[in-house]
Amino acid sequence: MADVVFANVQKRFGSFTAVEGLDLDIRQGEFICLLGPSGCGKTTTLRMLAGLEFPSGGEIRIGERVVNDVAPGERDIAMVFQSYALYPHMSVGQNIAYPLKKRRVPKSERAEMVAKTAEMLQLTPLLHRKPKELSGGQQQRVALGRALVRDPKVFLLDEPLSNLDAKLRGHMRSELIELHQRLGRTMVYVTHDQLEAMTMADRIAVMEGGKLQQFAPPQEVYRAPANRFVAGFIGTPGMNIADGVLRADDGAWVFEAPGLSVAAGDLTAEAQAGPAAMGIRPEGLSIGAGPIKGEVQVVERTGHENIVIVRVGDGMRMTCRTAPDRIWKVGETVQMAVDAAQAHFFAEGPTGRRLNRAGATGALLHPELKEATS
Ligand code: ATP
Repeated sequence: MADVVFANVQKRFGSFTAVEGLDLDIRQGEFICLLGPSGCGKTTTLRMLAGLEFPSGGEIRIGERVVNDVAPGERDIAMVFQSYALYPHMSVGQNIAYPLKKRRVPKSERAEMVAKTAEMLQLTPLLHRKPKELSGGQQQRVALGRALVRDPKVFLLDEPLSNLDAKLRGHMRSELIELHQRLGRTMVYVTHDQLEAMTMADRIAVMEGGKLQQFAPPQEVYRAPANRFVAGFIGTPGMNIADGVLRADDGAWVFEAPGLSVAAGDLTAEAQAGPAAMGIRPEGLSIGAGPIKGEVQVVERTGHENIVIVRVGDGMRMTCRTAPDRIWKVGETVQMAVDAAQAHFFAEGPTGRRLNRAGATGALLHPELKEATS
């Protein structure tokens, strides 16, 4: 059952459109990440769901109810902000109890609910401390506690981990995953950090320029990006994307770029002869043998793998992920191969759609082989 629905939602600020034609269907109990670069409209989307901004068009529903004009306090949601926004003069216990006090929950009931929430977040020994006597991670847990204590229908989180250092962020990520599993509540989480989205979300809504680019589980966003923008945005190091042309060769599609010639396999009806792009992730390239000739430019050793940047064709740089046991030298001439099963093809333009048919893959043609078959 859908818990939260955005149907053709728009948000304009004067003549500027921050969110355009947004359709999202969030299931009950799902953990959704809104992911995208700065300014893509993710916070505006969350604020509309919270009732802090009103949509200029379309409809937002929580459960069965259209909430476009419903005040934030009436929406049965709780929001956790990037700045924890704790009350500095109140203790941890008082901070957590505050939303209950505002709703005039009787004192005895309040104490019980605060104790339960504190227990769940391992804050019991800290209940009497003031926020300034807590670490960043502990403050974040208090902010979560304040949202949890009312047991709302939907949790909204706006970059809640961005003020924490890397190690603590990793720790809080696993805590949030566990918390979501335990509570089974719908969570909508805004982030520009793809690692957070990939590790926590059931589905990721990738946004760019106020528009939804793809809404799918992390694996699908990674393995079958809907378009060139998603392909380039997801993955570290990023996908190699080569600009070139698609050509119909005896009824079969071939992608060509300087130094590259790839049989593109079965493409969708949208494919056209002319400018297009090919994408291949660093793990889809191998060095040692193969038809692509290049020169090693950079070698980054991370311990468990090497990231090697190779210059091919007329200057294109391709990033390759290799095992750590073989050290490639800068300046060395190497041969490379593409794992055909991992090649993606995109229509022209920055948000050109993916042209691979489901299940179809590209295959790299050796230049001589190509000549022999043409
Ligand atoms: P960030 O990661 O930087 O927070 P975001 O994806 O959350 O970015 P939004 O805050 O939703 O982006 O903003 C989307 C666009 O709308 C931006 O270009 C922003 O400048 C604009 N915008 C947001 N709020 C307002 C406002 N109140 N008035 C005018 N423009 C606004």
